Amino acid sequence: MEPHRLVSVVIPVFDERDSLEGLVDELLPVLGAVGSPYEVIFVDDGSRDGGAMVLADLARRHEPIRVVRLRSNFGKGAALTAGFREARGDVVITIDADLQDDPAEIPRLLAALDGGADLVSGWKQDRDDRWTRTVPSHIFNAVARRVSGIALHDLNCGFKAYRADVVRALAIPGEMYRFIPVIAAAEGFRVAEVPVNHRARRHGRSKYGLERYLRGLLDLITISFMGRYRHRPMHFFGGLGLLMFLAGVAISIYLTIVKFLGEAIGGRPLLILGVLLIVVGIQLFTIGLVSELIQRGRMRSDDDEAASRIERVIHG
Ligand code: UDP
Ligand code: MG
Repeated sequence: MEPHRLVSVVIPVFDERDSLEGLVDELLPVLGAVGSPYEVIFVDDGSRDGGAMVLADLARRHEPIRVVRLRSNFGKGAALTAGFREARGDVVITIDADLQDDPAEIPRLLAALDGGADLVSGWKQDRDDRWTRTVPSHIFNAVARRVSGIALHDLNCGFKAYRADVVRALAIPGEMYRFIPVIAAAEGFRVAEVPVNHRARRHGRSKYGLERYLRGLLDLITISFMGRYRHRPMHFFGGLGLLMFLAGVAISIYLTIVKFLGEAIGGRPLLILGVLLIVVGIQLFTIGLVSELIQRGRMRSDDDEAASRIERVIHG
């Protein structure tokens, strides 16, 4: 780690009052030992447990600590985005506030960045949670690996380190923070994984239940669609729509011939299928067209996106 680099630690906090002091006690010595200047940004995601007072007190006592307070509880993704905006570092580390992530692993994450990675994700190899959480998580990760083609074991891990330009290049809508490694890899960044020590929650409660995996799978569909077809939605909708439309037309032509040959077709199920295929096919096709129009309207932001994809420019 180059010593002059500024390290930003971003910590999303929602109702973690009893963990905060302990976290700072563990975190600051580790950061001090790294030897780089650092800042710690707590993002208070609308806590209602009085933790805001604890955070304010911590910020008063420790110069590198800042607190960003959100007006209400907007969710971990919003908290991270707010923290990323506030972070000034060349390297950004995210860590959960509940002491489940072990700050002592930070040097290993930083070492992986020095090894050439743009993003290093923690992997809770021996996860200290109940099986009702670990089993769905394994299934979720296995599906995500298949769909995204990213060879990570633990997408959801909140413990990560980034080169700052990765954080700045990524737009992370809503709860998509779970897929940051997938999005980053799709943008051409080098993504690595490091096994990290994981501890049981001692204070407070987990903020998530099983519904997160259902939402996660839906988000996964969005992500993989976006990755493949965002810039050419017509190739998806148009292709599918055209195929259905043509099949419907073929069926209708066949039935027309049958009809002229003197057979009644009014009661045939094939008639319904043919009509349905034509109608749905046209619908999909027009959805494709409309998507293209919307995509054209976003050209300017795509321009920005294209710029953010440039790794470097070499001048002669
Ligand atoms: N968190 C947050 N806003 C929320 C929910 C959670 O900032 O609406 C924070 C929470 O305080 C913790 C981290 O996100 O620091 C991970 O949450 P949690 O420990 O509940 O998730 P789990 O470890 O069960 O996956
Ligand atoms: Mg936790």
